[in-house]
Parts: sequence; structure tokens; C-alpha cells
Amino acid sequence: MTTSQVHVSTHPLVLHKLALLRDHRTDPKLFRELVREVAVLIAYEATADLETEEITVTTPLGQARGRHLRERIGLVPILRAGLGMVEGIWSMMPNTEVWHIGLFRDERTLEPVQYYNRLPVSPTVDVCLILDPMLATGGSGVAAIDILKSWGARRIKFVGIIGAPEGVQRITTTHPDVPVYLAAVDERLNEVGYIVPGLGDAGDRLFGTG
Ligand code: URA
Repeated sequence: MTTSQVHVSTHPLVLHKLALLRDHRTDPKLFRELVREVAVLIAYEATADLETEEITVTTPLGQARGRHLRERIGLVPILRAGLGMVEGIWSMMPNTEVWHIGLFRDERTLEPVQYYNRLPVSPTVDVCLILDPMLATGGSGVAAIDILKSWGARRIKFVGIIGAPEGVQRITTTHPDVPVYLAAVDERLNEVGYIVPGLGDAGDRLFGTG
């Protein structure tokens, strides 16, 4: 599915790795590797429109025109499952800054509660990639976007792995200017806010705490 603001990957590598990620037999080591790899592939798609500028480099044989990234990029993982998406993307773009946002879901209301945010007073990056593998109710995603917008972030993108229709709808209606990049949109949320069929609790599966 690709609407103007929702981009769901159809890349064969993403689909292959996503099926392995969903499998309940996948152990935490493989799960972490797959999250890292899928995150890189989704981020590759999410960064296709980053601005570049022309440069000249000297090769062993002469001068070549090239391009380099013009914008300062910030990775904003939502703790804790977003951490699993940082490393791979960071190694592809080593000059990015990483700003953590801590949000947990109130089990009763399913609404996010902020517990960690060390953003400096004014923005230090041009583009923020919010990282959270599971876009469930959309509460955390919307809260993170609210935080980054009030920080003054100019351009924000949400990079996840699996979304529920409810969460995708909530982000795109509340923040229609924020594009969402995912590997899949699943059927629905269950009564406790888990994505069905999903992959279970991403944080628990990453950190072996399930
Ligand atoms: N968070 C998860 O880790 N899994 C879900 O299905 C929903 C939210």
C-alpha cells in the first residue's frame, strides 16, 4: 500500500525478513538481526528524498563530480523497542545524531506517558526519523511527533516495521505532513492494543524479556 503519506514496502528482501521476524520460533539473537536489517531497508526507502549537493572529489585518475548529503539527520528511537532499529541505520549514516524519547503505554488507557526526553533547547537536525517497530494505536508516534514539532523540527518521518490500520490512521490524520514508512500494515489491534497477527511484543523479543 502506498498512499501519498503511507509507504508500505513491497521489496522482496523486506517481505522475506518480515516473515522470519513474525515467526514465534525466531530467537532474540536472530530477531535483533532481522529488526536491524529490516530497519535499514525501510530507512533506505524513507531517505530516498533527502537533499544532496554537488561536490567534486579527486580520484586516483582525475576529478569526479559527486553528491553528498546536505541535511543534518536525527534518529529518534522511541524507547525501548525503537533501540533495535538504531544500529543498522546509524552505520549507514554515521554522522546522524541519536535522540532518545522514552514513552510507555499506560496499560489502562493505552495512551503514552513520557518518561525520557533530553532534547536540547533548539533543533540541531533538519530531518528527524522517528524509529519504532510497532505502530499500534499510534499514541506513541503522535506523542513523539508532537514533541519534535514543539522542539522545532522542520521535517519528520515515521519509520516502523508493522502498523495497525488504527495507528496509521491516527498518525496520518493528526499529522498529515509526516510520512509513514512500514514493512506491513496488519489486520487490526486486539483488545489490549497488540497488533494482530503482528509479531508479539517487539521489546520483549528484542531484549529476551518475554
Ligand atoms: N507493541 C508491540 O511490541 N507489539 C504490538 O503488537 C503492539 C505494540
